[in-house]
Formats: sequence, structure tokens, C-alpha cells
Amino acid sequence: MSVPTRAQAVIVGGGIIGCSVAYHLAKLGWHDVVLLERHKLTSGSTWHAAGLVGQLRSSANITQVLKYSVELYRTLEAETGLATGWKMHGGLRLACTPDRLIELKRQATTARSFGLEMHMLSPAEALKLWPVMDASDLVGAAFLPTDGQANPADIAQSLAKGARNRGARIVEDCPVTGVTRKDGRITGVETAQGAIRTELVVNCAGQWARAFGARVGVNVPLQSVRHQYIVTEPIPGLPRDLPTLRDPDRLIYFKEEVGGLVMGGYEPNPIAWGAGDGAADPPEDFAFSLLDSDWDHFEPTMTEALARVPALATAGVKQLINGPESFTPDGSFILGEAPELKNFYVGAGFNAFGIASAGGAGRALAEWIVAGEPPMDLWPVDIRRFGGPHRDRGFVSTRTLEAYGKHYAVAWPHDEPESGRPLRVSPLYPRLKAAGACFGSKLGWERPNWFAPAGVTPKDAPGFGRPNWFDAVAAEHRAARERVVLFDQTSFAKFLLVGADAAAALDWICAADTRRPPGAVVYTQLLNRRGGIEADLTVSRLADDAFYFVTGTGFATRDFTWIRDAIPAGLDARLIDVTSAFAVLALMGPRARDVLSAVTDADVSNAAFPFMSWRELIIAGAAVRALRVTYVGELGWELHVPVESAGAVYDALMAAGARHGLVNAGYRAIESLRLEKGYRAWGADIGPDHTPLEAGLGFAVKLKTEIDFQGRQALLAQQRAPLRKRLACFTVDDPTVVLLGRETILRDGETVGWLGSGGFGHSVGRPIGYGYVRREDGVDADLLRSGRWELEVAAERVKATLHMAPLYDPKSARVRG
Ligand SMILES: Cc1cc2nc3c(=O)[nH]c(=O)nc-3n(C[C@H](O)[C@H](O)[C@H](O)COP(=O)(O)OP(=O)(O)OC[C@H]3O[C@@H](n4cnc5c(N)ncnc54)[C@H](O)[C@@H]3O)c2cc1C
Repeated sequence: MSVPTRAQAVIVGGGIIGCSVAYHLAKLGWHDVVLLERHKLTSGSTWHAAGLVGQLRSSANITQVLKYSVELYRTLEAETGLATGWKMHGGLRLACTPDRLIELKRQATTARSFGLEMHMLSPAEALKLWPVMDASDLVGAAFLPTDGQANPADIAQSLAKGARNRGARIVEDCPVTGVTRKDGRITGVETAQGAIRTELVVNCAGQWARAFGARVGVNVPLQSVRHQYIVTEPIPGLPRDLPTLRDPDRLIYFKEEVGGLVMGGYEPNPIAWGAGDGAADPPEDFAFSLLDSDWDHFEPTMTEALARVPALATAGVKQLINGPESFTPDGSFILGEAPELKNFYVGAGFNAFGIASAGGAGRALAEWIVAGEPPMDLWPVDIRRFGGPHRDRGFVSTRTLEAYGKHYAVAWPHDEPESGRPLRVSPLYPRLKAAGACFGSKLGWERPNWFAPAGVTPKDAPGFGRPNWFDAVAAEHRAARERVVLFDQTSFAKFLLVGADAAAALDWICAADTRRPPGAVVYTQLLNRRGGIEADLTVSRLADDAFYFVTGTGFATRDFTWIRDAIPAGLDARLIDVTSAFAVLALMGPRARDVLSAVTDADVSNAAFPFMSWRELIIAGAAVRALRVTYVGELGWELHVPVESAGAVYDALMAAGARHGLVNAGYRAIESLRLEKGYRAWGADIGPDHTPLEAGLGFAVKLKTEIDFQGRQALLAQQRAPLRKRLACFTVDDPTVVLLGRETILRDGETVGWLGSGGFGHSVGRPIGYGYVRREDGVDADLLRSGRWELEVAAERVKATLHMAPLYDPKSARVRG
């Protein structure tokens, strides 16, 4: 088939992902779509995948994405007439250690929260399902009845047929060699068979997606890694209906195939694929190809497998497949519109679960393309989660290899990556390190999580129980409540919006009323058309035509892109990233004013410097922008300091604060403090699927004004009907219970939601969690006030108390338990 001269969309790459996007776009009514494949369909990673299809992820929406894959693979053959090899014999996960068993129990609870069946099993029950294994070292297992396996190439071909049936054109042997642009917009693609005019391109080029994106300045941070598995000859007596098996303590997985086994593993010392340091792109002529089998590297995997399945010792091995696959720095795939180029979409980096993801990821991306916005909160896989550091191939490669090596490691709570650090540091880094900081890593930034007291090593110890930093964080928390602390929040993303129409642009972009005079600070959400919360930040008016945004470290790319794209056409307003210009010192606590007034001549009294305002202060010779805001529920200021003066300002504050008991504090204390005060965290408590009304943030929305803003109509419509979900706070009386998020919420024994965030409040002395209580016919005050509330934590129910008011009130220093 030759290429057409124009198309509504061009999909680059005919692996399972490209085929799924074509299928779903056609299903949504985009019939004029072209998929171009350099060689033949499935010739990249898809043809040699092992074909296990698991569904459980740590995000509810991504789990729904994978659940949809299963639904699709069950029914696709009936629609297209092409078999997919789908077999739903379930998925078994083994536990050989007490910690792994806790992890499995927490996963079973997560699955229950997300509506996915997952049962805990005894070793004997697991053995019944998988009789060829040696179960002598098991302490437990879990079973997901709707997991399964499929034939990857057949699914891709079946999706391609379904797409063709609905009008999509699929052209093989057609490399896409370039993307043409005019005035920053896509105008077409160039191919070996001629040019195609189009305004929309979807990059599904698998391991070549990085190189293809780079042609147009789009960063797709992925790294090819060698992944090996064996295929055995038939094993006498092997049941044909075996579930897939994951044995993470031995780092291996199994799948039945024509009477034999497929067995592969995730070695802790993976090998990147590429020349030299492994940071080269795969060759373009690598089609239906494999790398040389590496038996030496596979030996430890084989040894573990022999111990689990003794019959392997006598089974013939047909082949050791060594196939490269693209992996990402955080182990999640990459979806969405590139922040660098309008109408350039990416679906790539599938981390060896592209077969399991393809159905749902293809649908989500197609819906995103058609609507111009994601159909739901897809933040864990959103391409906008990356930033500047991910343009560095060395950093991407080392983080990716770390993530691969930890694939089957126990997912410890609060785990931090170790590789590629330190990368971005605040000017205070050496001082804080000397003061005992234990740093975490966010978007490449080193951020103090907690400070180790003398004699304690500043290092997190892995575990599911009460963490080793519990007491240190408790002390920082108390210092913030009773005295004063300093948080280094330099990593905050900061943007300037300037231009004659900047104020008019904010009218539309912000849900809160930003028509305030210079000197004001406004807390606001930025909403999508559905009224969902795309961002949650502060905006300070610097002048009539200049505003200053401050938002979370991890949201730098996302929020910048959102604000930039939301500026109404024709307005004179430009957004500039000034993150690197300012360090941020947050001085928080009842004695913050005493400390601040000691380092500045300015009047910092409540009358002169009220809450939600900013002033310029001179501290240690620097012009400091001080914002009177708080995320911890105490009197305090965020001091935005020119980077070159950060050290001097820090030293001045510490010297003046000594007599008031000023100490350093870290992000874990912030979390504990904000949980008690009920401040929402974007990505955990609020996000694109939640409106301010559902989240209890209606007070921050300008519905009472006449000002139109994005999301207003959706909120007005929502006001007319009962809310179907409402965010609530839960506490547990037993202080030893560890809440991490994703625990199930039960009312009178029935599941009504799950926790988004979980932690410990050191003033209330209890575990605290936040989650939405959901009910189709409405959640009202009566429902919340009545009923018996419980949380399921690691597969066990604990009694809980629901609260709709903050647990902590600084004015009266009153604590509700
Ligand atoms: C050994 C191994 C085992 C695996 N096991 C599993 C498993 O059990 N379960 C699971 O879910 N996943 C598994 N996977 C992962 C799965 O194979 C991949 O995630 C999936 O195939 C990725 O699909 P894709 O469409 O993104 O990439 P690909 O299949 O690689 O497709 C990309 C296509 O783009 C084409 N292309 C590139 N550049 C251009 C261009 N410029 N113009 C035109 N075409 C271009 C390529 O030729 C290629 O065909 C495994 C992977 C490996 C390596």
C-alpha cells in the first residue's frame, strides 16, 4: 500500500502500541489515520515478548488502563477474526520472606481498593495451582484470577486488522524520516515513500522513540536494556492451564507455553543495549532480530529457576531469547502530548509490560488525542513528569538501570533512588549535609527529608514498620508547632507571567480570584474543562503586569506547560521559568516573627505584613521576596532569595533563631504537619479527576464573582446535583498502624473508596489518611456523620474515625484526635 498525500494523524511505528492507537483512533471515528512502519508490523520488541499480562499497578487509573487491556484481549478475536492467544488462567505471586508477604498483603488491599480481585493464599493453596514448583520456602502467595497471557504478535495483528476494518491505512516498509513544521506547528511527515500532510504525529517508535523525538526537539527519556528468557521443550505432565507465576524473591517469572515453560528474570545487574556506555540508540535495521544469548549473565537467573522448578533440570531448552526493550527512569511508561511541540504525541517506554498495557494505553492515548486532553488523571505515565535532567542521556541510563535492577525488589515505603546523585543541589546543600540531612531526590533535586540527630546515621532503613527516622521527624514536627523551623524548599518550581494582559489571562486560568493589588498572594487551583484540578499553587502579584507562580518541585514541566497553553490566544502574556534564580527558605512556627524581625528592619507585624501577602525585605544584604503563606499550619514566611545570597540569609536566620530554638527540618516533617492541618497534596489528594467542590476547596473558587474561568461551567453543573465523592480525613487510634496511601475505606463493612495519602501526625499522635468517600447517588453530611468506619491496611481491617474539619488549629493550638 502506498502512502496517502494527507492524513488526520500519522502514527510512527507498527508495534503493539502503534497498532492499538490506530485501532482506538479509528474506533473513535478518526478514519483518516495512517500508521507507518519502517519494516514489518511487530518487528521491533513486540514479536519476541513473553506475553504475560498482569494488571495491578500502584495507581487506580493505571490499573484501570491495564484492566481494559484484558477486556479487549478477551473479545478482540470475535471482532476481527484473528486469534490473540488470550488465556485467562490467572496470575500467582509468591512470597518467601515476611516482608514480601507484607508487600503482597498491601498489594491485595490496593487491588481491592481498585476493584481488582486478588486473594491471599497459603503455600499449600499456591502449590495446588502450580504443582510443578517446590513450595518448601514459601511463606504465602497471592492470586489474581483475571490476569493471563497472550500471543503478542497476534494481538498486534488483530488490532491492526480492527483498525484497517474501520478505515485506518497501515503501510509497511515505510520509514518516517522527518517531521515538517511551520511557525512551530506540525505540517507533515517525510517518509521513504513520499511526504504526507498532517497536523498530528504519534510517536510509537518503541526503542527508536527517543531518536525520533529528538528530530523535533522532543525528549523521550528511555534506555534500551537487554532482557532474556528461556523457552523449554514440553515438560511431561506440565498442566496446560497454569497461571503465570511471579517469584520476585528469586527475581524470576514463568508462563506455560505449548506444554513447556517460558522463564525469564530481572537481574540486579542489567546490561544496557547500545554502543560504548549504552547510551546509543538501537540500529535502524534491527528488525525481527535478537541479541546473542548471554548464558553467563543468565546463570544466576537459571539457578533460581531450577530451585523453584526442579523439572527444569531435565527439560530441554529450545532457546535463550535475548531481546532488547526500552525502559524508563521510573519504571512507568510514557504517554501524552510532548511539552515541547503541540500535536506531537508519544506512546513509548513500556518497561517489559507493553503487551499488558497496549490495549488500555492505546485507548487512553487515542482519547487524549481526540479530546486534546487526557481522559482521566494519567499523571504516573504522563510525559510531563520529566524535566531538564532527563535530557541527559547518562542520567537517564543510570536511573533506568537502577529501576530495572529493582524491578522485583520489595517496594519499600518512602524508597529513594540512589543513582545519578547528587545532580541538582540548593546553595545550602553543603550546610544542610553538614547538619545531618538525609536527602531525597525529586526531579533530580536533592531535598532534605529529615535531619539525623548526633549519633544517628542520616540514612533511611528499609522496612514496613515504624521507620528509623520516626523520632527525628517527630522532633522536627514539634519544633515547628512549638518554636520555629527552617525548611529548604529551593527546588520549588517558579514562573513569572508578564505582559499587559497577564491579569486577564489569570482571570481565565485560575479558579481563585486573582484580581488583587500588587503585594497580594493568592492560593488557587487551575482547572480543566471538567472542573478537575490540574494544578494547585500560589500566585503573587508583583506589579500590574507581572505575577509570580510557585508550585511543587515535581510539577515544573507539567504546570509550566499547562499555564502556557491555557493563556487565551491573542493576549499579551508570556511565561518564564525562573526556578533557578531563587533559593527558598521557609521559616515556619509560632516564633517565626521573632526570628524574622531580628534580621530585617522592615515591619513584619500582622498589620504591616498580613497573611497571603508578600513584601520585599532586606536580609543579609539581599533583596528577599517574602511570601506570608504556610503549608504546615503555622505562622510563617517563604523567603525567596537570589541564589547568590542564600548562604548569607540562611546563616543570618540561624544565628538570630538560635535563642528561639530554630532548627532545620525536612520534607517528612512537612508531610506530617500538612496532614494534620488538612492541606491537600496534588497527585495524592487532588488531581485532574477531582474538583475543588469534591476536595473541600470550594472556598478558593471565584464562583460568586462574574469572572469566567476554565472549569466554571463544570463546577456550576456539579453544584446542581449531589456530590458523588467527597474527600475526608481518617485517623486510626492504634499508633502502630502504618498508613501509606491506597488503603481501602469501608463504611459499615462496604468498600466506599481508598486513601490517597497516608502518614502520621505527631501532634495528634495518630496515623492520618485522606481519601474520597464515593457513592453514586451522592455523599452528604449524614452519610459522613453516620456509619461505622474502617480502613483495610495490609489485608486487615482497623477501626477508623472520619473527620471533616482540620485535626489541628494553630490559633487555639487545639488538637482533635
Ligand atoms: C524479552 C522480552 C520479553 C517481554 N515480555 C513481556 C511480557 O511478558 N509482557 C508484556 O506485557 N511485555 C513484555 N515485553 C515488552 C513488550 O515486548 C514491549 O513493551 C512492547 O512490545 C512495546 O511495543 P511498542 O509498540 O512500544 O514497540 P515495538 O514493538 O518495538 O514497535 C516499535 C516499532 O516502531 C518502528 N519504528 C521505529 N522508528 C520508526 C520510524 N522512524 N519510522 C517507522 N517506523 C519506525 C520499529 O520498526 C518498530 O516496529 C517483553 C519485552 C522483551 C524484550
